[in-house]
Amino acid sequence: MKLVFKINLFYHIEFKIKAFYDKIFFMKYADIIIDISHERLDKTFEYIVPADLEDVITEGVQVVIPFGAANRAITGYVVDLHDTPKFDVTKLKPIARVVKDSIAIESQLISLAAFLKRNYGSTMNQALKTVIPIKKRENEKLKKEISLAVSIDQARIELNELLTNKRHAIGKERLLRELLTVDVLDWELATKKLQIPTANIRDLESKGIIKIDSVRTFRNPHMNADANAKQITLNEEQEAAAEQIKADIDTGRHKTYLIHGVTGSGKTEVYMDVMDHVIKMGKQVIVLIPEIALTYQTVMRFYTRFGDLVSILNSRMSPGERFDQFERAKSGEISIMVGPRSALFTPFPNLGLIIIDEEHEPSYKSEVVPRYHARETAVYRAGLTGATVILGSATPSLEAYSRAVSGEYKLITLNKRAKGQDMATCVFLNRRGLMGFVSCRACGHVLKCPHCDVALHLHYGGVMKCHYCGYTTKAAKTCPSCGSKYIGSFKAGTQRLEEIVKEAFPTARVLRMDADTTSGKNGHEEILSAFAAHEADVLIGTQMIVKGHDFGKVTLVGIIAADISLNESDFHSGERTFQLLTQAVGRAGRGDEPGIAVIQTYQPENYAVVSSANQDYDSFFKQEFAYRRLLQYPPCSHILGIQVSSEKQADAIAQADILAGVIRSVDPEIIIMGPEDAYIGKLKDIYRRVIYVKADEYDRLVKVKDEIDKFLLEQKQYRSTSTWFDFDPISTI
Ligand code: ADP
Ligand code: ZN
Ligand code: ZN
Repeated sequence: MKLVFKINLFYHIEFKIKAFYDKIFFMKYADIIIDISHERLDKTFEYIVPADLEDVITEGVQVVIPFGAANRAITGYVVDLHDTPKFDVTKLKPIARVVKDSIAIESQLISLAAFLKRNYGSTMNQALKTVIPIKKRENEKLKKEISLAVSIDQARIELNELLTNKRHAIGKERLLRELLTVDVLDWELATKKLQIPTANIRDLESKGIIKIDSVRTFRNPHMNADANAKQITLNEEQEAAAEQIKADIDTGRHKTYLIHGVTGSGKTEVYMDVMDHVIKMGKQVIVLIPEIALTYQTVMRFYTRFGDLVSILNSRMSPGERFDQFERAKSGEISIMVGPRSALFTPFPNLGLIIIDEEHEPSYKSEVVPRYHARETAVYRAGLTGATVILGSATPSLEAYSRAVSGEYKLITLNKRAKGQDMATCVFLNRRGLMGFVSCRACGHVLKCPHCDVALHLHYGGVMKCHYCGYTTKAAKTCPSCGSKYIGSFKAGTQRLEEIVKEAFPTARVLRMDADTTSGKNGHEEILSAFAAHEADVLIGTQMIVKGHDFGKVTLVGIIAADISLNESDFHSGERTFQLLTQAVGRAGRGDEPGIAVIQTYQPENYAVVSSANQDYDSFFKQEFAYRRLLQYPPCSHILGIQVSSEKQADAIAQADILAGVIRSVDPEIIIMGPEDAYIGKLKDIYRRVIYVKADEYDRLVKVKDEIDKFLLEQKQYRSTSTWFDFDPISTI
C-alpha cells in the first residue's frame, strides 16, 4: 500500500515536471490568417497552441481566437505550425477553441498548400499564393458582349447567304452559328477562345447584323446544353469503362483510374459520361487539359454537353478574372471547371471528380516554386474530399503506368478508334532543337549570348537571338574568335524544310508552325484551325503540331531527325521520344485505313523508335522500366534537384559546396551527385549550380529539403545566393 502510494507520488511529481518542461520547451505555436480572400496572405498572427488542442490542430483547421485589446472572439485558419515562437512568448495569447467540423473549402485549400510546401519545397506563403486566388483591386473593366441585332430567322438567312460564298470568312460563320445558339457572347471568349477575328465582328456590326454592348460584370455566354446535339452512344469498350468507374463511385469507392487509349479512342466521351453522373449527384468536377489543347473544339464539346455549368480557365486571364471564376465556383454557380494545371485549385465546395487528360504532358509540372506535379497533387486533393481521379493518355507517363501495373491505380484500356476523321494532307515534323545556331566553320567557335550560357540563333532579318533572355544583336559577318568570314548558321530546321517542300511541290499550299510563326496570342490555334479547315495541303512544324488536341488525321506524316530527342542528356529522353513519335505516327490514317508515317532516324533499332512505329506501348514500357530500375531513376526511385544561384559565380560555387556538406551530415548514406554547373550554367547573368540527391524513399528527400531550409534560415553568409528545390524534375535543371 505504502509502496504503491510512493510510486504514484513519484510518477505524479515527474509528470508535473514534465508538463512544466513541455510547456516551456515543447510548446507549439500557430500562424493564423484571418481573412483568406485578402490580398496579403502573409499577414498572419501568432498564437499559442494549448496542450489539450495539440492533437486536433493541423494546417487548415478553423479556430476561434481572442483578437485585439478587447479580445473579441473571431475565427481564423491555421496556416503554419512551429516549435519556436517568432514573437515575445509572454505577449502571445492561446487559441480559444477549434471550430467543430471545419470542412470549409478554405481548410481544404490550406491543407493543400501545406502539402505543396512539404512535398515540393516552398514557403507557406508561396504555397498559399499558389492555391488561393488573390483578390486584387483592378480598375473596373468594361466587358464587351456581342448579340444579334436581327431576329434569329434573319440571322439564319444571313448565315445561309454567307455559306453560298465558298471563300467566306470562317470567323463570320462561326460567330453567326454561335449567336444562333446563345443570346450573348462575351467579346473575349469570341476573339480569344473562339478565334473570331475582330475585323469579322466589326464587319457584321457595320452591316447591322450584330451589336456590341459594354457591360460591367463578367457573364459566361448563356448556353443551354444543346438538346439537339447528336447524342453519342458509347461503344462497348467505352461503356464498360464508364460503368466500372460509376459503379465504384456509387458504392463509395474512390480511386484513381488510368485510361490508356489511343487518340480518338473516345476517352473524352467516357470522361463526359462520368462527369454527367457526378454532377447529377450534386458534386463538382475539375477537368485539366494542357493549355495547348484548350482549343475551340475542345471548349465547345464541353459547352455543348453541359451548357452553363461549365467555366473555362486559361493562363491569359488577369488575376481579377481568375478570382471571379473561382468565386463563381465557390458559390455554386458552375459545376465544371476546365483549364490547365492551375484549375486544380478551383474552390469547389463538394468536389467529386478530377480528370487529367494527356496525363503525361510535362506542362502538368509547375515551372515555378512550389514545383508541384498536378497528378500527385490531384490525388492528394481528391483524398481530402473523397473524390475520384481519372487520368487519360495515349502514351501514359512511366509514373502513372507503373502504378497502374502495381494496382495502385486501376487500369482501363481502350483499344478501338471510336470514329475516324478524314483529311488528305501531309505533315512534316521537326524538333526545335534543329534551329540553326551560329558557328564558325573555320574554327568551330559558337556564338553565345553574353548573358546566358547558350548559343545564339539566327532569325530572319539578319539578327541573332537568345531564346532564353531575348537578347538580340546583328548577325556577325566575321568570326570574333579567328576573324574568318565563314561564319553562319544552318537554317532553322522548319524554315529550311518549308523551302524544300515549296521547291518540290510548287502548287501545294504550305503552312509552317514553329516558335516564330506562333508568337501571337493564339498563333498555334489559328494555324491548326486553318489546317483543319483545309486551307493548306502541307503543314510543317515542330513537335507543337502533335500537341494540338483537335488535330485531324492525315495521309502522310514525315518525322525528320527523330532521334535528336534521344540524345538529350536526360533520362526522360526515351519517354519523350516515344510519346512524340507515337502521337505523330498515330496521326497518320484516315478512318480505319492506315496512312503512312516515315521516320528519319540514325537509330532505327532503338526501342523507343521501334515500339512507337509499332504503336506498342507495352513493349516500350517494359524496356523503359527495366532501364529506369537498373539506373535507379524515377519512378523506381526519387530525385531531388537543388539549384543554387547567384550573380556572383564564386558565391554560387561556395554555397553549393556548403549545402552538399549539409546533406552529407544529415544523411551520410544518401547518393549525392554534384555540385556541378546547371544544365544552363548562366542565365540572364545569374550563375547556377546544381546538386542532385537520389533516394528510394521520397520522405528521405523531404528530410534533406527540410534540413537545408533550416540551415538557410540561420545562415548569415552568402546572402547573394538563392536556393530552390525540384522534386523528381521532369528535365535536367
Ligand atoms: P480521345 O479523347 O480519346 O482522343 P474523343 O472522345 O475525342 O477521343 O473521340 C474522338 C472522336 O470520336 C470524337 O469526334 C468523338 O465525338 C467521336 N466519338 C467518340 N466516341 C464515339 C462513339 N461511341 N460513337 C461515335 N463517335 C464517337
Ligand atoms: Zn572562327
Ligand atoms: Zn540570353
